[in-house]
Amino acid sequence: MSALLTVESLDVRHGLLQAVRQVSFEVAEGETLALVGANGAGKSTLLRAIAGAHRPAAGRIGFAGQDITRRPAHRRARAGIALVPEGRRLFPELTVEENLQVANASRRSGSWDVDTVLEAFPLLQPLRRKRAVSLSGGEQQATAIGRALMTNPRLLLLDEVSLGLAPVVVEGVYRSLANLIEAGTTILLVEQDLARAMGAADRVLCMLEGRVVLEGLRGQLTREQVTEAYFGLPRQEATA
Ligand code: ATP
Repeated sequence: MSALLTVESLDVRHGLLQAVRQVSFEVAEGETLALVGANGAGKSTLLRAIAGAHRPAAGRIGFAGQDITRRPAHRRARAGIALVPEGRRLFPELTVEENLQVANASRRSGSWDVDTVLEAFPLLQPLRRKRAVSLSGGEQQATAIGRALMTNPRLLLLDEVSLGLAPVVVEGVYRSLANLIEAGTTILLVEQDLARAMGAADRVLCMLEGRVVLEGLRGQLTREQVTEAYFGLPRQEATA
């Protein structure tokens, strides 16, 4: 598999605070990579930098063989990078279908349209003509992911899809994500819930205080290793 996204030695600051420090990793075409880490580890900042919403202080971002480090967000979107930010941000007075159609303005050619999105998110089918304001959190999340899909992205960046949702609702959203993964969508997923992340992704990347402290294929990492990296616990020395 060739790399679709390449992040090299990326530094991203908020004023004096360095939120992302020397981060390097790749996402292969068709892969699902989960980015985990505690609150404030720098995950959202990293996603926003990849989408072009926050300019990095140093480093390089490559996408589909091109250096996009200095490209503005709208050109990255046109190249196929779609970000679903934390907090969903739908148009409350528009219906589900209208919220999906908002993405038509930046639609690339591909198989995702209102019908295929509703197929991938069966929970939205009966809600097609309901206004977003009347939806539950999970339904709003599915609509927000569906709207991003409508652009036919090559890379889908998902920030905390399960935040604030009841476990049963998260289950539904993840079932739909499984459909997307099955369809070969390349996904970079920020997730606080380790079990969820390790269940859905091919590979897991753990950040601590702005740095990548652990990276591996999900089958190669134990829950203990990821938990230690997540909380920055010292590794137990092997006893002789
Ligand atoms: P969370 O799960 O809480 O969103 P995160 O891993 O996504 O955490 P970030 O939101 O990227 O982490 O935050 C990384 C660091 O940058 C934190 O110390 C945070 O307080 C700081 N930060 C984030 N956004 C801003 C901002 N707009 N201005 C100043 N500091 C910020």
